[in-house]
Amino acid sequence: MSSVLRIALQKSGRLSEDSYQLFKECGIRFDYGTGKLKSVSSNFPAEFLFLRDDDIPGYVEDGVADLGIVGENVAVEMGRQVQTIHKLGFSKCRLSIAVPRGTDWTGIQCLEGKNIATSYPNLLGNYLTEQGVQAEIHEISGSVEIAPSIGLAEAVCDIVSSGSTLLSNGLKEVETIFRSEAILIAPNELNAEKQELIDKLLFRIKAVQVAKNNKYIVLNAPNHSLDQITALLPGMKSPTVTPLATEGWSSVHSVLNENEFWENIEAIRAAGAEGILVIPIEKMIY
Ligand code: ATP
Ligand code: MG
Repeated sequence: MSSVLRIALQKSGRLSEDSYQLFKECGIRFDYGTGKLKSVSSNFPAEFLFLRDDDIPGYVEDGVADLGIVGENVAVEMGRQVQTIHKLGFSKCRLSIAVPRGTDWTGIQCLEGKNIATSYPNLLGNYLTEQGVQAEIHEISGSVEIAPSIGLAEAVCDIVSSGSTLLSNGLKEVETIFRSEAILIAPNELNAEKQELIDKLLFRIKAVQVAKNNKYIVLNAPNHSLDQITALLPGMKSPTVTPLATEGWSSVHSVLNENEFWENIEAIRAAGAEGILVIPIEKMIY
């Protein structure tokens, strides 16, 4: 196959590190961070473009790139004709409305006839329409939080993760209008060769994501409680049980979802398990 996947990533910003890390975990090697705008993978038919995140949906829509990673907020705001291939679970944030801390807030209707500063006029506009509120939207491209203090607007609509930026600008978050995470986008039309490469990549991404949510667990158990313990550790098919050198004891190996581990650990210990080891898994394929 001579086809090469062109993948657009944010050059440097809040999506970059996790995007690079994801490809690394998928075993796809390429150089980045050297100031180059383009890099070819040495072990996967892929070429990487390093861009401003705002430019990525357009490049994907035009088919200049076959894949891109952007925040859902940017993809939806730009309204480009692209398809979401997969959610990636990082760069999680929300788009929220915030007002000066002293404002009396009784609900979204408080914004009727007010001025709101934002870099997301479409997402905000749609939300206000849905809520039946008429307000003036002022689009600004950055430092939205200072708008109320300089008299430009009575409210802002901006990206929040911890809320500390809002707080330090004397604002309080009053309404979340959109939740976002990094997503993989592709053109609506893909030829069969590109689709095949994307499927190959997706297979790897899913194996990495599943592995992150699961742990390999090893423990020692007295033989009389093996039934009880193995019932708590179903594993991918069933747990591995091997005898220990000590008479009457076995070693149990299994895979467990991280949440289930914490939910079941007391019951596992109560059943007599000892020497419990929990080990991260790098890749997991069912
Ligand atoms: P560029 O220079 O590429 O245009 P930018 O300044 O527009 O970058 P970033 O601040 O790097 O964008 O954010 C990129 C994306 O990361 C956002 O669109 C959003 O989806 C997500 N994001 C933004 N802020 C946060 C945050 N505090 N925590 C997690 N994710 C965030
Ligand atoms: Mg940007």
